[in-house]
Amino acid sequence: MNTPVNLLDFDVDGLIAWFAERGEKPFRARQVMRWMHREGCNDFAAMTDVAKALRARLAEEACIRPPVPVRDSVSADGTRKWLLDVGNSNAVETVFIPETNRGTLCISSQAGCALDCAFCSTGKQGFNRNLSAGEIIGQLWLANHLLGAAREAEAGLEAGDKDNGRIISNVVMMGMGEPLANFDNVVTALRLMLDDHAYGLSRRRVTVSTSGIVPAMDRLRDECPVALAVSLHASNDALRDRLVPINVKYPLVELMAACRRYLDKAPRDFVTFEYVMLDGVNDDPAHARELIELVREVPCKFNLIPFNPFPNSGFQRSAPERIRRFAGILIDAGIVTTTRKTRGDDVDAACGQLAGQVQDKTRRTVRLKQTLEVRS
Ligand code: SAH
Ligand code: SF4
Repeated sequence: MNTPVNLLDFDVDGLIAWFAERGEKPFRARQVMRWMHREGCNDFAAMTDVAKALRARLAEEACIRPPVPVRDSVSADGTRKWLLDVGNSNAVETVFIPETNRGTLCISSQAGCALDCAFCSTGKQGFNRNLSAGEIIGQLWLANHLLGAAREAEAGLEAGDKDNGRIISNVVMMGMGEPLANFDNVVTALRLMLDDHAYGLSRRRVTVSTSGIVPAMDRLRDECPVALAVSLHASNDALRDRLVPINVKYPLVELMAACRRYLDKAPRDFVTFEYVMLDGVNDDPAHARELIELVREVPCKFNLIPFNPFPNSGFQRSAPERIRRFAGILIDAGIVTTTRKTRGDDVDAACGQLAGQVQDKTRRTVRLKQTLEVRS
């Protein structure tokens, strides 16, 4: 028998095509889509309005297989983090951040990352592989499933009396990996996030964060425009070449032009610039003033991220007072600037932190293998 096809790998058009190859009508594909993504169902037998013969055939040829969590930690502030086994001793992480008016899920796009930003623990691991579309959307599937189960248990709801109120209102592609370096799979997953037959999120509530792969930013604008965050982290090319090496290929003048082009079709009328605050490296008032010049023609907001330290990183987090001063200069120039709260510190819920920690103790694969073995 052939290995079953994971239906989480398809967006709506892909599933319609796969059904068509089997002589099934598009509405059947949409039906199954809704069961999978709206109802969170991974058992064909339970899809009661799908013809019995089709259910039997699907059970033979297909599966609905999300990634498997090997660790599940909850921080004192409610931030929840899952470490997911993606095979071959690789793991990625997904983080849920609850806030008063929204719940944000931070999703990974690659195991490791090839771009090697100086301050990033994911980058320090090197690149392992791209996640499949099913592994990317599977993180949303799984989080919905696990958070929904937790909420039902808390509220004492009966099965079938499910409250479909959204727990996850926003998705950010800010976990491990560079989303635009895994373009096709990420776009398939984004389409599912936006599709009414799946998660039905508005484009404004789905954010892709990129280190600045200029041609892929243009493609995203044309193929699936969602909110855009750009990891800037430096105010001039010399500094950015050092911190974000992809800058050598796509320097700031090209990056700023790509941001302006993106805004023609973006669902929001600004780009968010992320800026990690590294003590004594990029956090001087002179850098803030240089930034104001740099972004003069790009409608934007700034999100200052206090550096999340990890062993042997060689960097330190800027002091709060220094961050306030830096923010103040941008704000005085009329740029909306927020400083990210450090959340989930007790579960290391930051970009690449948990897997990074695993790596820092011994050689990554050895240690990770042990972690996965202990958990399975
Ligand atoms: N690869 C994409 C998205 C994932 S990283 C990107 O680089 O944009 C999400 C954000 O976390 C990026 O802005 C990234 O630069 C930042 N980041 C990485 N390591 C960090 C650390 N140790 N402390 C604080 N922010 C970090
Ligand atoms: Fe990759 Fe983003 Fe980390 Fe840079 S910051 S190494 S692009 S994950």
